[in-house]
Amino acid sequence: MDKREMKQCQNCKKDFTIESEDFDFYKKIGVPPPTWCPECRKQRRLLFRNERILKKNKCFQCGREIISLYDMESPFNVYCQECWWGDLWDGTQFGKEYDFSRPFFTQFHELFQEVPRIALNGHRSNKDSEYVNYIIEAKDSYLCFGGGYIENVLFSTLGVRTKDSAEIYFSFDCTFCYEISDCFNCYRLIFGRGCVDCRDSYFLDDCKNCNDCILCSGLRNKSYCYKNRQLSKSEFVAIKEEFGNLTQNKISSYKKEFVSIALQTPKRFLDISHSQSCVGDHITNSKNCVFSFNIIEGENCKYSSDIMFKAKDIYDGTSCGIGNEQIYEAMTSSININQGKFSSVVRNNCFDIQYVMDLHSSSHLFGCIGLKNKQYCILNKQYTKEEYEELVPKIIKHMNDMPYIDQKGRVYTYGEFFPLELSPFAYNETIAQEYFPLTKEQALTQGFGWKDSDTKNYSITKKPEDLPDSIKEVNDSILNEVIGCVHGGTCVHQCTTAFRIIPQELEFYRRMNLPLPVLCPNCRHYERLAQRNPLKLWKRQCMCNESRIEDQKQKAHQNTVVHQHGEGRCPNIFETSYAPERKETVYCESCYQNEIV
Ligand SMILES: [Zn+2]
Ligand SMILES: [Zn+2]
Ligand SMILES: [Zn+2]
Ligand SMILES: [Zn+2]
Ligand SMILES: [Zn+2]
Repeated sequence: MDKREMKQCQNCKKDFTIESEDFDFYKKIGVPPPTWCPECRKQRRLLFRNERILKKNKCFQCGREIISLYDMESPFNVYCQECWWGDLWDGTQFGKEYDFSRPFFTQFHELFQEVPRIALNGHRSNKDSEYVNYIIEAKDSYLCFGGGYIENVLFSTLGVRTKDSAEIYFSFDCTFCYEISDCFNCYRLIFGRGCVDCRDSYFLDDCKNCNDCILCSGLRNKSYCYKNRQLSKSEFVAIKEEFGNLTQNKISSYKKEFVSIALQTPKRFLDISHSQSCVGDHITNSKNCVFSFNIIEGENCKYSSDIMFKAKDIYDGTSCGIGNEQIYEAMTSSININQGKFSSVVRNNCFDIQYVMDLHSSSHLFGCIGLKNKQYCILNKQYTKEEYEELVPKIIKHMNDMPYIDQKGRVYTYGEFFPLELSPFAYNETIAQEYFPLTKEQALTQGFGWKDSDTKNYSITKKPEDLPDSIKEVNDSILNEVIGCVHGGTCVHQCTTAFRIIPQELEFYRRMNLPLPVLCPNCRHYERLAQRNPLKLWKRQCMCNESRIEDQKQKAHQNTVVHQHGEGRCPNIFETSYAPERKETVYCESCYQNEIV
């Protein structure tokens, strides 16, 4: 039976559709249909993940100085990794009797203020990587967030099985790479976007199985190409020499050229490979994943992003890892999580959990925070199986009879994710700012918190313009300098205004012949993100033979073969992550395959 339904979003007041298959999913997992639209739901989840704004704090248990998501002024008792994972405390000691005279979320919020919080979302599998967050199996790595199985990696987000590399975004199995995003299995690729099996190259966009190429876009199985032209080996070697000692000046002029070269080749409407029935972007080896982004080995996922490896039946999941199944409204769900609803940071092996935060290896929990190896708890209080099974339906009914109403009048019954007010972070400290950027004024008007960046203790000893051009002129004394960021805190990137170079980093630049950076790590991350399409789709027509393109014929791509649709414009319509105002020539699958093979 088809029962498609149009609803108005409780938050943004825009209309959204709930499809008949969605109703089936909600019924299967026992939740009511949502009252917020998919975008607002995503934004609400992202507000619970602070990846990269790290602060100094002290462990409440052992007194050690630590790096934490929370500063000294926060209301939480913050524990270092050892103390949080240790046996000296037990989350059930904070257990509370459920109070049927007050809303659920009010009681949950009180518990949330009392239970100790882990300093960083690290994992015991991380080694010699103090400054990493939301990551597993990281070794000798620094300022890396999300993903895992990395070694000697600097400044990465969602890097997986990657080694000896820096400045990474959503890339897999890469070694000796620098400034790459959406790349797979690359080696010595410096500045790369959407490349697979490429090596010994600089500035590549959408290339596959290429080696020794520079400033190229849309190439397959090529060597010795420069600006998309085939050169002889000796011609190429002469040019490559110049790239052996990059300076910031050279990089910025190559970057400009790179942008115009990339514009000359048609873009595939979506980056989806080895997948069936998927709509979204950056999807690989997946099946039936729709309105989803950054998915590797996903099946039946909807409105989800950052899903990696054997994950199945997920609606509204963000950052779900290996073996997640039957998940709804989850922000950070690590390994082997089954039947998880409304959760933020669930680590390994959890089953049948609802309204939970900071869990590890637990099952049958409702409204719990910071529990390890527990079963049948509500608000951290231990019950028997029978008591638990009797109480949970009563609480669900109570959540509907006495809903929580937030400051903006939004109503939270059973079936809503955590109220925005429960996030311990300011809007611009979280990844909500990365995917739904707001100015300070916009954030405050919409009822979000905002944190101005901390400039307090930095006295800059080196201006970015005074840095040596080439890494060859840099000596070890640079390690003592406090370098000013070019943005100087004027952007909305949580600019730290200044930064230091660490020894491991200096070694990397020397080895790769790369100049010192002139932006702080946060600004570098945001600049990289700006190169990537947003997690959004627009309905558009294939641009093949579009007259607007004809006018720019000198610059834009000219087809090399006759297409099925003939001389006229291709009629194909698709959902694409390229917004209509963008300059790229966006092709449907068939036109793209005709030109880029
Ligand atoms: Zn909305
Ligand atoms: Zn900065
Ligand atoms: Zn900036
Ligand atoms: Zn087409
Ligand atoms: Zn065509």
